Amino acid sequence: MDLKKCKRETQLVYGEACKTTGSHIQPIYQTSTFVFDNVDQGANRFAGEEEGYIYSRLGNPTVKLLEDKMALLEEGEDATIYGSGMAAVSAGILAFVEQGDHIVAQRCLYGCTHSFLSHIVTKWGIEVTFVDDASNPESFKNAMRPNTKIIYIETPANPAMQLTDIKACAEIAHNGGARLIVDNTFMTPYLQRPITLGADLVLHSATKYINGHGDVVAGILIGNKEDMDHIRMTTQKDIGGITSPFDAWLMLRGVKTLAIRMKEHEKNAMKVASFLENHPKVERVYYPGLPSHPQHELAKIQADGFGGMISLELKGGLEAGKTMMNTIEIFHLAVSLGTVDSLIQHPASMTHSPVPVEERCAAGITDGLVRISVGIEDAEDLIQALEKSLSTI
Ligand SMILES: *Cc1c(COP(=O)(O)O)cnc(C)c1O
Repeated sequence: MDLKKCKRETQLVYGEACKTTGSHIQPIYQTSTFVFDNVDQGANRFAGEEEGYIYSRLGNPTVKLLEDKMALLEEGEDATIYGSGMAAVSAGILAFVEQGDHIVAQRCLYGCTHSFLSHIVTKWGIEVTFVDDASNPESFKNAMRPNTKIIYIETPANPAMQLTDIKACAEIAHNGGARLIVDNTFMTPYLQRPITLGADLVLHSATKYINGHGDVVAGILIGNKEDMDHIRMTTQKDIGGITSPFDAWLMLRGVKTLAIRMKEHEKNAMKVASFLENHPKVERVYYPGLPSHPQHELAKIQADGFGGMISLELKGGLEAGKTMMNTIEIFHLAVSLGTVDSLIQHPASMTHSPVPVEERCAAGITDGLVRISVGIEDAEDLIQALEKSLSTI
């Protein structure tokens, strides 16, 4: 059977049984090292002349199952797994830049990615240009230099759920001899496959939708064989931000339901977004599935759906946001996203409260901005909880 020819629902669910015992579900290879038969075998494995495991930082059978599944889903050739999304971000970027190189990235990125690009890579003489208007590919083109090695994008991106044109950015990157890296965390391979649009590397915070159940922190990089081999032999091997076999096993379990989860997330998000858009206490709703989203058309072209993330702007600013956080039921007050249950957060009083107001607002984090990760509960229950909370403002 060629799984590549199967539909995504089948690819997600299908897993081989254990060849040794027939165990339907694969065991967890909870081991740090692997025993060689003799000295020649050890030598051959280290020389790469014989297939086989050596040490779990370099490879592990449970982790390998997840690598293969993710490569299949994203239509890449190979994948590497990390102990967090940020470990994947740093391993993917550091593998392809050296002193004197240049990176172009959109300004609106996951906070720690922005921080990594602003404060860490710059310590080693790597320059980064942040593009303000990521919705216009021309701005990436204008930022390119002869020494640009990476264009880094995230789409859709917090806080305004702005989209970046993946295909256009891939062309710009390749014309300039650079790689395009796409953070696909919000969409997942069920809804968006950046490699098919020209991206070189795709990354995930698997903490979010890939695992989906809120019990693992992990990251994933997917790309072609050559790039993944290079990453394995450099930033993964020598920086070492790997995941554990147990966490890989949990992700293998979680990802099986990705298709039905994403369908439900989206169905609920569409209902919640429409409800919020018509509510008098709400100034604006940012959701790519709404026709009012400025890039609704691009969302329809480059993805198979709109996902489960919504941002909204409350009319009442900071106080309204705080009141909503303190009165909302069902939704948990927490950062992170992509779990089966609904999460809500108010950046101005939570994640971004230490950031000065001017800086915060320049990044689009206004006082009344609220972010919702819509879960797969009953949509009417979610809407009722929102209605009740909004009525207290
Ligand atoms: C959470 C997140 C990250 C970082 O992932 P961790 O697993 O928390 O390290 C990167 N990008 C996006 C879009 C995220 O949501």
